[in-house]
Amino acid sequence: MSEEIFNNKLICEKQNCTGCMACKQICPHNAIEIIMDNNGFEYPVRTEECVQCGLCTKICPSLSDTLNEEKFSQIVFACRSKNKDVILKSASGGAFTTIVQAYCDNNYAIFGVEYDETCSPHHSYVLDKKLIDKYRKSKYVQSSVGNSYKDAKKMLEEGRKVLFTGTPCQIAGLKNFLNKEYDNLLTVDIVCHGVPNKQTLKKYLQYMEDKYKSKVKAISFREKIYKNKEWDSKCIKIEFENNKTIIENIRKNLFLRGFHSQLFYRESCYNCKYANPKRISDITIADCWGIGHIYPDWNVHEGVSMVVINSEKGQKLLPTFEKECECLKLDIEFAKKENARFREPTKMNPKREFFFSNIDNMRFDKLINKCVPQKRMRHIIGRLIPKNIKKIIGGKLNGKKI
Ligand SMILES: Cc1cc2nc3c(=O)[nH]c(=O)nc-3n(C[C@H](O)[C@H](O)[C@H](O)COP(=O)(O)OP(=O)(O)OC[C@H]3O[C@@H](n4cnc5c(N)ncnc54)[C@H](O)[C@@H]3O)c2cc1C
Repeated sequence: MSEEIFNNKLICEKQNCTGCMACKQICPHNAIEIIMDNNGFEYPVRTEECVQCGLCTKICPSLSDTLNEEKFSQIVFACRSKNKDVILKSASGGAFTTIVQAYCDNNYAIFGVEYDETCSPHHSYVLDKKLIDKYRKSKYVQSSVGNSYKDAKKMLEEGRKVLFTGTPCQIAGLKNFLNKEYDNLLTVDIVCHGVPNKQTLKKYLQYMEDKYKSKVKAISFREKIYKNKEWDSKCIKIEFENNKTIIENIRKNLFLRGFHSQLFYRESCYNCKYANPKRISDITIADCWGIGHIYPDWNVHEGVSMVVINSEKGQKLLPTFEKECECLKLDIEFAKKENARFREPTKMNPKREFFFSNIDNMRFDKLINKCVPQKRMRHIIGRLIPKNIKKIIGGKLNGKKI
């Protein structure tokens, strides 16, 4: 399909389409299909069956202003679960698990993101909180929402309590799809710097399978590793069918290098309207970057969540946070200063176009080395290390600044 025909069939402008797929799920004529663009990103497009009813454009979050205008004074705090096992199994400090503990008593459904057998993330739900382990840890690829907004609606209508977690654009998609408030719905969004697509991950995994001569059976993008008396929460772990396991940090790992240098996100991520302190959901969860600057005993790499309560519904969960976690109240200005994606969208890496034009004809390692040379990684890693740690290690770097 030519670029022009593709663009004409889209529901909103390509650079604004987040792929939330609310349009696909609302269409009563089944007249929207998902098509991949040349870079491997999925877009909803109208098919011949379209009767121009306009429902899809009416509910598209990119064509309307869906940000939370509730007059609620946001509550921001840092937290880490008192349960060390929860911290180890979670991406940050276990905020998601605490929300589950607080909200899900009986007759509930929890929606989250899990991997399928090809390591592709997708939304699903569980009706038993003992099964949330598969939702823990960040999957650094856009998840397929499938029919999850429809499923959530059905359960809400049946009177079940629904906890829906996702990226802010997915929460916007759900809310517009539902088009009314439900007392029995609690939404949780993550602070998000952008999502790569499944094709890019597939290319990377293919490269790793060729290199290690075995199929990848599991991947984790946020392993917490304790090495040389230091925690590192930004390690990738890849398990192969031949029982080999690779653990690499952000400096070494090719996928993480591309991911953390904004190289291969979806186009809309670079002008994301949800990368903003005004949030779309009842509760926002994130990594508590910068916490060590004000509380040196708290190490974000060991696992500290930042939680932002955005509504009265969310506020009701506070007693459980106080019981299950160590909590420290924070100022919203701290969140804006320390967490860039809570403040503004990510900037596009100038090599993005080069990356996608060459992904099919260059080896993954060569392509990443070309787009994100190690020198540039030094700068990125420098930005991620707290200032006090930089001071301590500064002397060990032979006078070179990070
Ligand atoms: C793509 C992505 C980008 C992120 N970028 C940032 C950032 O820039 N700054 C920041 O502070 N935090 C970011 N986070 C959030 C952070 O990594 C943690 O997920 C968050 O702090 C929750 O920690 P936890 O310990 O409570 O989570 P866990 O218990 O590990 O739970 C993880 C939660 O994230 C959801 N989730 C996992 N993968 C996805 C996905 N692909 N799409 C939608 N939902 C998903 C799960 O359903 C679950 O609810 C990002 C997460 C993702 C998935």
